[in-house]
Amino acid sequence: MTIYETLLPQREHLARACRVMGKLDVTKSTYGHISMRIQAPGPGGDLVLIRARGPGESGIRYTAPEDIILVDLDGRKVAGRDDLHVPKEVFIHTQLLRARPDVHSVLHAHPATVMLFTICDKPLLPLFGAYDPQALRLVRKELSYYDRSILISDDDKGRTLAEAIQSSKACLMRGHGITTCGATVEETTLTAIRLNEVAELNYKAYLLGNPRPISDADLEAFDQGKEVEWASYWRYYCRLVDEN
Ligand SMILES: [Zn+2]
Repeated sequence: MTIYETLLPQREHLARACRVMGKLDVTKSTYGHISMRIQAPGPGGDLVLIRARGPGESGIRYTAPEDIILVDLDGRKVAGRDDLHVPKEVFIHTQLLRARPDVHSVLHAHPATVMLFTICDKPLLPLFGAYDPQALRLVRKELSYYDRSILISDDDKGRTLAEAIQSSKACLMRGHGITTCGATVEETTLTAIRLNEVAELNYKAYLLGNPRPISDADLEAFDQGKEVEWASYWRYYCRLVDEN
């Protein structure tokens, strides 16, 4: 059995995360990819599973385990179907995985509402937190910004993006999209979903009037709050895509 075949459970997991992104309209059509580090001791270094592009792809909403290919940390294809190729922006993933040993999964997508905030230089405000304190923490403490609108199509551009991201969980890329990262595929995907929800709510609040951020006193109270467990969120989203 090849290494690619033994990675079927990981490919199934990654494909489901892609379907969640499509189902929630965080990204549409054929755009967007999520990756997962495969630790491989030895001279070649770690490998990466990533949603592929190309004539044979299914589109993000319908991603199957066969749409996931294996690449190395230089962004070269190692295994996968002949009608699939490495995404042009694979360097977002490979350079972030190189720079951050704590990161085991990276996501890149182009959610329109988040993009609007980067285009118009409007800040994402801390508007809610009671039912989702992690969304509040994300917008206050875990965001970074990348000011260029270019395609991240080589190692140098990937390195520059990784430098902008530093130790953050999510990056707003001007006139382009988002990159999120985390220790697991679940964490990375849920961060992207939260970021999109924060942007959607901010957008509607700006349309309705003058959004009023949560007061400093209430923000301080949230800082004392406990971490919300993520497993039930993930189960919900998996069921959402597995049922149809
Ligand atoms: Zn992109």
